[in-house]
Amino acid sequence: MSLPAGSTIGIIGGGQLGRMLAISAARLGYRTAILEPQADCPAAQIANRQITAAYDDPAALAELAAASAVVTYEFENVPVAAASALVAKVPVYPPPRALDVAQDRVSEKTFLNGIGIATADFRPVDTDDELTAALKAFEGSGILKTRRMGYDGKGQRVFRNMEAGGFAGTCEAMGNVPLILESFVPFEREISVIAARGQDGAVAAYDPAENVHRDGILHTSTVPAAIVPKTAEAARTAAAKILSALDYVGVIGVEFFVLADGSLLANEIAPRVHNSGHWTEAACVLSQFEQHIRAIAGLPLGSPNRHSNCVMENLIGDDVLRVPVLLAEPDLMLHLYGKAEARPGRKMGHFTRISRRG
Ligand code: AMP
Repeated sequence: MSLPAGSTIGIIGGGQLGRMLAISAARLGYRTAILEPQADCPAAQIANRQITAAYDDPAALAELAAASAVVTYEFENVPVAAASALVAKVPVYPPPRALDVAQDRVSEKTFLNGIGIATADFRPVDTDDELTAALKAFEGSGILKTRRMGYDGKGQRVFRNMEAGGFAGTCEAMGNVPLILESFVPFEREISVIAARGQDGAVAAYDPAENVHRDGILHTSTVPAAIVPKTAEAARTAAAKILSALDYVGVIGVEFFVLADGSLLANEIAPRVHNSGHWTEAACVLSQFEQHIRAIAGLPLGSPNRHSNCVMENLIGDDVLRVPVLLAEPDLMLHLYGKAEARPGRKMGHFTRISRRG
C-alpha cells in the first residue's frame, strides 16, 4: 500500500545521506523525522523534526516509531537489535536482515558466495597464528580488515608479498577485534551499482559507476564506466539477485572489483543510498534518493535512465574552498551538506559535471 502524501518517514541517522533523503521525501509530499544524537545535523536542517538521542535509545526509538508511517536508515551500522525491535511497531525498510548481513564482512561474503556471487577469498582471523596461516594460504599478500564498523578504508592493513611469519602483535594493533584477511585482488578498476527494489518486487538498477578512491575515501564516480556491456549487465544482475535474496525494499549500493578479463568480484554491499550514486541527482531524471523514498513509501519505482554522462567528485575538508570557482562552471550541479566545520577527511559536499551522452 502506498503512503499518502503528508505521512511522516522516520530516518535513523542525520548525516548528508539523511539530508538528501529528506529533500526527496519533501518533494514527494512527505514529512520526515530524524533520529540522531548530534544536534543541528545535516538532515535535521531539512527535516520536519529531530529526535536528539542515541540510535539505540529505546524511548527515542519508540518515539520515532510512533511519529512515523515507515522507518528507514541512512547508515549500515544501525544496531540490528534496535531495527528489529522497531519492526513490531512500524514497517522498517530495508529489512533488518540486510543490516545483519552487511555489518560483518564474513557474513557478507558468506551470503554473497551462497547466492552464487564471487568475492575475494577470505579467512576469519582472530589471532596472530590464524593471520600467519591465512597469509600463507594467500601466498603472502592480502588485506586485513576489521570485520565490523569499517568504513572509508578505516581499520585496514595491506600485506604484499610477505613471508608468512613475524606477525606477532598485529591483532592487538588492530584493536583485538574480530578480523578478516582477504586475498589481494589485482583489479583493473572499481565499479558500483545502485539498484532499488519496490514493495511489489520490481527492480531498477542504474548504470554502473566507475569509482576512484583517495586515501580510502571515494574521490570520483564516472558514468559510464569504462567496461564492456557484458560486465555492466553482470553487475546489474548480481545486484538484482542480492535484492531478491534479501526480500529487500529500498536502494542498495553494491561495490565490485573488475578484473582484467572483465569478470567481477563483489567487494561490499551497503544497505542504503550510497556516495557512488550521488551522480544520479544530476544525470538522471530520478535520483537514488527519490527512488529510495518511492520504494519504502510503496510508490512505483521510476526509470533509472540516464540522460547525461557525468563525473561526480566529493568535496572533502578544505576542498570546499573551491566552491566559488566551481559555481562559475556551466553544467555543474553543486550539493553542500550544511556542515559548519571543514575538518580533514570530512565530506562537506559534492558536485557533478554533466556532459552530453555520447
Ligand atoms: P573497503 O573498505 O572494503 O571498501 O576497501 C577500501 C578500498 O581498499 C577498496 O575500495 C579497494 O580500493 C581496496 N581494497 C579493498 N579490498 C581489497 C582487496 N581484497 N584487494 C585489493 N584491494 C582491495
